[in-house]
Amino acid sequence: MKIENEINTYCPYCQKHTEHKVKTISKGPVRGLGWHTRSHERKIHGYTSSVSVRLKPKKLGKKQAVLLECKVCKKSVQRTFGARAKKKIEIKR
Ligand SMILES: [Zn+2]
Repeated sequence: MKIENEINTYCPYCQKHTEHKVKTISKGPVRGLGWHTRSHERKIHGYTSSVSVRLKPKKLGKKQAVLLECKVCKKSVQRTFGARAKKKIEIKR
């Protein structure tokens, strides 16, 4: 899926349609000591009763998100485009 470099969409801060810059979102580093990872490790090591294994349904593709930066107020809003896509979003230059 290809998206233009600049698009004209609604800005919730200006409350009108303005020009936006399109940026891709890069994922930050994964926290190794988050609350859920620690509790999950405790369960695996066997300090609690038996852990039920939940099988997650396989999903086809991911929802592709982009950052839209308003050119007027310079605030950015995250937005997903379309449904689950197998291909990553490309920004036209
Ligand atoms: Zn704005």
